[in-house]
Amino acid sequence: MRIANLANRLVMVVDGLAHDVEKLSAGRFSPSVPAIYGRWQEFIEWASHAELGEGDPFDEALLLSPAPEPRQLFAIGLNYGEHVEEAGLVVDDPVVFTKFVSSITGPYADVPRPGGDVDWEVELVVVIGRSGQRIPASQAWEHVAGLTAGQDLSERKTQVAGAAPQFSLGKSYPGFAPMGPVLVTPDEFSDPDDIWLECSVNDELVQRSRTSAMLSPISEIIAFLSKITPLLPGDVIFTGTPSGVGMSQAPPRFLEVGDRLTTRIEGIGELRNHLVAVPA
Ligand code: ZN
Repeated sequence: MRIANLANRLVMVVDGLAHDVEKLSAGRFSPSVPAIYGRWQEFIEWASHAELGEGDPFDEALLLSPAPEPRQLFAIGLNYGEHVEEAGLVVDDPVVFTKFVSSITGPYADVPRPGGDVDWEVELVVVIGRSGQRIPASQAWEHVAGLTAGQDLSERKTQVAGAAPQFSLGKSYPGFAPMGPVLVTPDEFSDPDDIWLECSVNDELVQRSRTSAMLSPISEIIAFLSKITPLLPGDVIFTGTPSGVGMSQAPPRFLEVGDRLTTRIEGIGELRNHLVAVPA
């Protein structure tokens, strides 16, 4: 199943047409996208039997993040071997940081470019559909509502500033967490641990990999995080980026106002974000 946030209404997307969940369920489910994750099992059960009828064509430009209000937004750093090498680091346990939820934006949103070195990071994003603590890796996928595409936009100077650098602020400017265009349930993938993902700046391909190259796969990330903190319905996990980020190019290259950033993930779709000047 594919769901989307169409102008703040929950829809199912089938063959490119939208089915409004509140209308189809005669009000059993509200139009609220954030609220559905608290009733995910019930929703999936209902949706598997729902009589869809005719869907409605819709304007893609109205799509917003399918996970618009997580209580927690985790991100994993250095989770692909070639990216660890290009960063010149060695990794043991997953490297965890947060992006603040005010950085979330939609799949086709303009992103204001702050000063500094603004870099791209294509990432597969996990949305939690069932809460849990100390989740064994073997049961981790049972807690996943679905997968979506994301960009972990990063301003590198802020990311590494200070005596004890903390990544979170440099990765949390407004618009630095575009997500979408749809959320896809794990059963839609032939192997949800082996999905290609790529990123282009203007029309130049800069990142391309498969999620099977992750050092910690999704099940292990969920087990690791939930050993420490409960995972809550609607929570978001950015799972790390492959090699090819701008700071590792020779010479380093960063995003400028006017650049078009395109993010594609197999079976999910494409984000198209345009870097614009920060509004006065
Ligand atoms: Zn990242």
